[in-house]
Amino acid sequence: MPTFAAITEEIRLATAALGEFGAGLINPTVRLGVTGLSGAGKTVFITALVHQLLHGGRLPVFEALTSGRIARARLEPQPDDAVPRFDYEAHLHALTTERRWPESTSRTSELRLVIDYQSARRARNRTLTLDIVDYPGEWLLDLPLLTTRYAQWSADTLRLSRTGPRAMLAAPWHRYLAALDAAAPEDEQSAREAARLFTDYLRACRDDRFAMRLLPPGRFLMPGDLSGSPALTFAPLEVSGDQAPAGSLWAMMERRYEAYKDAVVRPFYREHFARLDRQIVLVDALAAFNAGPDAVKDLEAALAAILASFRTGRATLVSTLFRPRIDRILFAATKADHLHHANHDRLERFLARMTERAVGEAKFSGAEVDVIALAAVRATREATVARGRESLPAIIGTPFEGQTVGRDVFDGGTEVASFPGDLPEDPAALLARDGFKGLTAQANDTDFRFLRFRPPLAEPGTSGAPTLPHIRLDRALQFLIGDRLA
Ligand code: GDP
Repeated sequence: MPTFAAITEEIRLATAALGEFGAGLINPTVRLGVTGLSGAGKTVFITALVHQLLHGGRLPVFEALTSGRIARARLEPQPDDAVPRFDYEAHLHALTTERRWPESTSRTSELRLVIDYQSARRARNRTLTLDIVDYPGEWLLDLPLLTTRYAQWSADTLRLSRTGPRAMLAAPWHRYLAALDAAAPEDEQSAREAARLFTDYLRACRDDRFAMRLLPPGRFLMPGDLSGSPALTFAPLEVSGDQAPAGSLWAMMERRYEAYKDAVVRPFYREHFARLDRQIVLVDALAAFNAGPDAVKDLEAALAAILASFRTGRATLVSTLFRPRIDRILFAATKADHLHHANHDRLERFLARMTERAVGEAKFSGAEVDVIALAAVRATREATVARGRESLPAIIGTPFEGQTVGRDVFDGGTEVASFPGDLPEDPAALLARDGFKGLTAQANDTDFRFLRFRPPLAEPGTSGAPTLPHIRLDRALQFLIGDRLA
């Protein structure tokens, strides 16, 4: 039986969708969602994609461009006045002029790109409007909260925090919880301290060494503009039973948990997520490989949670009243330029394996799904380096100034060759505890794992303007919008 709130939600969504559908008949628009967990590469991806389209980059697989049917692409003011604009110019300046990576995504932003093209079928001039919506993947981890009550969420979150490396990281928070009585009268200081320690625990899990990703509620680590508000000042408690005693700390936490759902999760879903037509989910699998099997398993669980949100959107909110909105989903393993090209297909297979079940379900509900390994900006090139009698496949890039490996301190201008090692043939080995030792087989037995390369120098593009090298960005574009430019 749908609740009253769910029904009003559906009506609101249907009305919004109807309005947009009408507008879409006159001026075809694709709303492309770009998401992924923190550091996955959203900002770099959008900046590179827009730059390639504006300047006619080298995109052989992107048919509309190679066949010369795209006349012009330009930026236009976005449709939503209340959403920040994606700061394309600043990000591009960072990448190309300063040769540093841009500031990462910390909230939703939007950018409108208008593409004039000639239809292949009707030899007629047409326009496609592409609205790119950038949002933190962490926020999708919140959607399961909508159907979970506070007591259940507390129990689930505590159980997870006692497993694997999380248990150690949660120790200070657990100690504080052990001394807290959920049935005691409500108290702001206790709520704040519990929320602070809980957030510290989430932050520690996210650290590169552990690279955990299943860390809801999403706004605790990605508060957007809600930092410090009461809707974020709650945390799980050890509770027994189902009903919070009136006036208790438990009741206070429960109230805020519900406020979080009302003030944060539902509006995000309604105003951003439910309006998307296409979606790319970026995944930094390499960070998980570097941290080890616990991180890989955690990433898999986080991806499953993200995908559950796509299913929720389709089955219960949109499809019952209106045509399903998201009809294509692309999963992309980013930063493939850290691997030799012989490993790109392996990386793709690994991601396919991680998302297998979810992909099966999405197909069932009608969305087309694909998996890809890409580098939106390729910071390395490949070479073969002789070592004794062997010749080893290497990648060459410029590490940032000040980084050290052994006694070497990099100056930010010198290139170095690194040997990233091979991913296993069978993706299952990456999930096995001792099956894969991480990408650590490096020259001189030094650990290059955390070496960050500077963005590359731009290359001359087809239109004369400089373009950035990439890996398989054209394939991603073809899947995401190729059919809409046919
Ligand atoms: P976001 O948090 O999803 O917006 O992630 P960003 O786009 O800011 O990317 C995070 C970091 O990953 C960047 O600062 C880069 O160091 C790295 N990165 C992202 N994309 C690429 C890529 O295509 N190649 C390389 N080499 N590094 C990348």
